[in-house]
Amino acid sequence: MSAFTAALVARFGAERVRVQAPLAPLTTFKVGGPADVLLETQASDEIVDALKLAHAHGVAVTMLGGGSNVLIGDKGIRGLVIHPRSGAVHPVGDTLVRADAAVTINGLVRWTINRGYAGLEAWAGTPGTVGGAVFGNAHWKQHNIGDLVESVRLARRDGTLLQAPAGRMEFDYDDSRLKRTGEVALWAAFRVTPGQDPAALRAVARESLHFRKKTQPLESPSAGCIFMNPDPARDTVPAGIPPSAGALVDRAGLKGVALGGARVSPTHANFIINDGTATAADIKALVERCRNAVEERFGVSLRDEIMCLGDF
Ligand SMILES: Cc1cc2nc3c(=O)[nH]c(=O)nc-3n(C[C@H](O)[C@H](O)[C@H](O)COP(=O)(O)OP(=O)(O)OC[C@H]3O[C@@H](n4cnc5c(N)ncnc54)[C@H](O)[C@@H]3O)c2cc1C
Repeated sequence: MSAFTAALVARFGAERVRVQAPLAPLTTFKVGGPADVLLETQASDEIVDALKLAHAHGVAVTMLGGGSNVLIGDKGIRGLVIHPRSGAVHPVGDTLVRADAAVTINGLVRWTINRGYAGLEAWAGTPGTVGGAVFGNAHWKQHNIGDLVESVRLARRDGTLLQAPAGRMEFDYDDSRLKRTGEVALWAAFRVTPGQDPAALRAVARESLHFRKKTQPLESPSAGCIFMNPDPARDTVPAGIPPSAGALVDRAGLKGVALGGARVSPTHANFIINDGTATAADIKALVERCRNAVEERFGVSLRDEIMCLGDF
């Protein structure tokens, strides 16, 4: 056992420190190799303690939330993977709710609807956790989740803490400062409107769920949209093609195309689905095939929305 693993075991107990732990079941793509070491945390102070120990031992840390926006390489992830598992939601005054990073977006939506807080109901059906949603500024239709965030509690990689108001989070399309700083989200406070009718909020949530079922291949493992949509400031999409990554992949003739166990979804060309036998290498090769075809055909260079983690 390495000195680092021994230190983790001393803090968290042997049964919670898993060596060579499979990660594929913790992702929605259901692919990828193991973590050198996996720790499922149950509270923010546990995340902070794990960060401090990893920092002291010079071990790399990867955060894994709901695993719904990642492609983990077949050779897995070196170092420590922290997987926040339990979390709570609390009201803060009348107009804020605070949710730990581990809380699922669906759990947060249910919590707010049941208590008559409006603001998050349209996010029903978004896979993943508060931590992952803040990291990538999750979007739904024309809205970004960062628009609802009031502040985020962060931990630096050495375990020191800071609080960032939303204005300092550098939220942008599919982006936040966490992509550059490596800071870890511990919790986020969301702006809400109290005193609303839960039945009306539930109706909005149902509409989102219905729209998702109609437009996304929810029956197969995927990681949501593979590519970001083109940026009008950077990319020129030929006239007559909608400015979306899915439309470009579709018009490049790749909708439904398969490579190994990976296929461009026939329902939504910006989704790649796993038929149950795909490897991360299959998916990565299909991603590059789509990117190259769109570049050659339309001169648009698509950027990843998914995060590729670990060794391929
Ligand atoms: C069927 C389907 C539909 C989807 N629809 C949408 C959609 O409508 N809109 C949308 O935006 N996305 C969508 N997604 C993608 C995904 O659900 C979101 O990006 C989600 O916010 C990712 O959260 P997660 O917890 O699963 O993050 P993960 O996939 O676990 O991680 C994503 C990134 O965040 C980092 N991270 C995770 N937790 C933390 C933390 N606490 N602190 C710092 N970094 C962290 C990880 O290291 C990784 O780099 C969809 C995915 C699927 C499978």
